[in-house]
Amino acid sequence: MTQPSRISAGLYLHIPFCVSRCLYCDFLSTTLGSEMQSRYFSVLRREILHAASLGFGKKYRILSVFFGGGTPSLPDAMLIADILDTIRSCFELAPDAEITLECNPGTLNDEKLHMYRKAGINRLSIGLQSADNKLLKSLGRIHDFETFRREYTAARDAGFQNISVDLMYDLPGQSRVQFRDTLRQVLSLPDPPQHLSAYSLIIEPGTPFWERYHEDAERKALGDCPLFLPSEDEEAGMLSDLKSILSGTSFHRYEISNWTLNGFESVHNKGYWERRPYLGFGLGASSQADHMRWKNTSDLNEYLSCSFARKESTHLSRSNEMEETMFLGLREMKGVTRQHFQEQFGVSMDEVYGRVLSNLTELHLLSDDGSAVRLTDRGISISNVVLAEFLLD
Ligand code: SF4
Repeated sequence: MTQPSRISAGLYLHIPFCVSRCLYCDFLSTTLGSEMQSRYFSVLRREILHAASLGFGKKYRILSVFFGGGTPSLPDAMLIADILDTIRSCFELAPDAEITLECNPGTLNDEKLHMYRKAGINRLSIGLQSADNKLLKSLGRIHDFETFRREYTAARDAGFQNISVDLMYDLPGQSRVQFRDTLRQVLSLPDPPQHLSAYSLIIEPGTPFWERYHEDAERKALGDCPLFLPSEDEEAGMLSDLKSILSGTSFHRYEISNWTLNGFESVHNKGYWERRPYLGFGLGASSQADHMRWKNTSDLNEYLSCSFARKESTHLSRSNEMEETMFLGLREMKGVTRQHFQEQFGVSMDEVYGRVLSNLTELHLLSDDGSAVRLTDRGISISNVVLAEFLLD
């Protein structure tokens, strides 16, 4: 009897430890030290074994593993290596599986980097954010640009050939000149990264930045000139600088906030945009599979008591999945093909979204070549508004 073929999926591991809290950050992370970190990893290991006991290991073939945080490069590298061993014992990993570790400068060293390589990690995503030391300090980052440069070089020396660098723009007090300088510094590294992510700052409730800047962010949203944040024009200027500087390189934009050299697109993130199933392990981690989305507890003590019960479990209706196919798929520059939509849902894209497609195309927010629809530059600049049009009743 032939075995049913396994379904391609990604794994996400949340590592919620940081040296200190950045002033803008609302991610789930704590500054608890090595004793708590060891305890956490032993529960993480048990959670993966628990998932395997429920049959997930036999069902999925893993194309990507992503250690996110938090700062996954903070805890002992052996803890990460042990988790990868556990994953391998429970899941079939594709031979060329992308295995990414998110890192922050100030937490890497030669020994760790070699251990990561030995454990099979083949991609690093390094949070630089800015090359301007004053801005880094104002964000509450623990590192300066020199630390980043030293550890980046060490990562190359350790053999990492696939490195992504994260940048931020629209920061309080940031000028276009500073942002352009950051880009140039990154691109002129001796062996520049293969992948860049650039996100504009979002002022999140509950953070020190919220206290300082939310009124300013509101002013800006209402069309008034902000006092601390870059103005709308400056923000648009930074994005346009990003596009024009990268257009003179071999990078291409493949998603609203992501640029890459050919062949270095993030397999894991593409999985999210293309709605591949994923299983999340660790504090507050989300999973999506079998028309369901669920979340782990965000309470550290509850998680440490090995409570792996699903929280916020939601059934995804066919309409939900159509909406997500459109608004996640349109984040990618290749857009969404009519064929893909038809194969997924057995109904044509035009039957479901005909009027939305023609309205957005008429407004030059969407381009439509008959086989695929994509956001135009104008559509990207107001993508939140455009993508919301794909919500069904
Ligand atoms: S390093 Fe990342 S996760 Fe940790 S506090 Fe800073 S932004 Fe948040």
